[in-house]
Amino acid sequence: MHQLTLAEIARGLADKSFSSEELTTALLARIERLDPQLNSFISVTREQALKQARHADQRRAQGEDGVLLGAPIAHKDLFCTQGVRTSCGSKMLDTFTAPYDATVVARLAEAGMVSLGKTNMDEFAMGSANESSHYGAVKNPWSLEHVPGGSSGGSAAAVAARLLPAATGTDTGGSIRQPAALTSLTGLKPTYGRVSRWGMIAYASSLDQGGPMARTAEDCALLLQGMAGFDPKDSTSVDEPVPDYRAGLDAPLQGLRIGLPKEYFGSGLDPRIGELVQASVKALEQLGAVVKEISLPNMQHAIPAYYVIAPAEASSNLSRFDGVRFGHRCADPKDLTDLYKRSRGEGFGSEVQRRIMVGTYALSAGYYDAYYVKAQQIRRLIKNDFMAAFEQVDVILGPTTPNLAWKLGAKSDDPVAAYLEDVYTITANLAGLPGLSMPAGFVDGLPVGVQLLAPYFQEGRLLNVAHRYQQVTDWHTRAPNGF
Ligand code: GLN
Repeated sequence: MHQLTLAEIARGLADKSFSSEELTTALLARIERLDPQLNSFISVTREQALKQARHADQRRAQGEDGVLLGAPIAHKDLFCTQGVRTSCGSKMLDTFTAPYDATVVARLAEAGMVSLGKTNMDEFAMGSANESSHYGAVKNPWSLEHVPGGSSGGSAAAVAARLLPAATGTDTGGSIRQPAALTSLTGLKPTYGRVSRWGMIAYASSLDQGGPMARTAEDCALLLQGMAGFDPKDSTSVDEPVPDYRAGLDAPLQGLRIGLPKEYFGSGLDPRIGELVQASVKALEQLGAVVKEISLPNMQHAIPAYYVIAPAEASSNLSRFDGVRFGHRCADPKDLTDLYKRSRGEGFGSEVQRRIMVGTYALSAGYYDAYYVKAQQIRRLIKNDFMAAFEQVDVILGPTTPNLAWKLGAKSDDPVAAYLEDVYTITANLAGLPGLSMPAGFVDGLPVGVQLLAPYFQEGRLLNVAHRYQQVTDWHTRAPNGF
């Protein structure tokens, strides 16, 4: 049963091949048996999952038939879950239990999804390797010596290892697409504002966006359908109608204009990844797409701009963790300053502290114009580049990452080397655009992802292209050895 996709599970539940309780029991046993190798879960919510599964079975017996009813999910541990620890991968929130559900969690629960638990992640979603978690690193099921990517590395490893068919992730600079690429999954970062951020613990609020991670584009479509939509509780959520994503999956690609940015294929890219990207372009051409070279001239400024804006917003967002209201509090503080300093010093790991310091510096009087304002100007230039490109093409295609998954620990001492891994993903966050990564092959047994970007609110187009591609390729169906 663990090999089934969400769409297949929906059919199996509908024709009563199995019940949600049977499926949930089987997957919980699989998590218990296999997750010790991966460390992809921070919390497994066995009792709650079985209760939700029985409830879903009852709803179905009473005639309900939603596609997600009774299907399993797990949430990245930065989505608040009522009554269940929400740690954000941090010692700071190790004992924090949210008093409410994030909108994404609530919507999927209303649709009848069964939550198996909370997945591991880089601390406060800062990272690209899932090594900064307070709960330890996550292993890549394709090679246990390699990182699964981050920050949604737990969701990625769990789904790739067939512990469950789908999970939620969040993407501030690539954290859905990059781990999806490194574990051979399909992951979608929606347009900023498409999915409610309410109840998502904030990292960089103008960049954060939740989205689906699954094996196929079809499953991402099902999940996005359940997640997307206006939420009056999130002032940046956009009141745009949500299309029927599944209905658009099969649209023909005849005449689809694909843009290949020449800047994406430069010297920083592993040539073996470049070859697989070109092979994916060929496959899409055979489906009727036409290819055009385009340029995104300001792309080179994206990483420096992001690593000013994201830490700046993080330093502000994380100031709420002060030892008073939420999370870790140091023992026997001498006075208020000592309480703040030691609670934060003990509760936050080193990468989070680095970001807070960088962000505080960038926002400080005298430096604000030189760094933060400049970075915002670059952000606008990057957006303008995309707007110009989308006048000529319907989607932009390129590699998701410049390199393959690296060995655990290989970049731990060099944060800038890890930051550079986000070179292809970060621009979509800066511009607020939707992006998708899909499996496109393997090099030395390690997965490679291809990224597609589309204009605002064109998630349906991304899912359509990825679905058609997945009908003529089988990369997304391959499972790692031992899983
Ligand atoms: N790797 C990027 C960072 O560390 C992106 C993380 C994310 O998207 N949450 O900030």
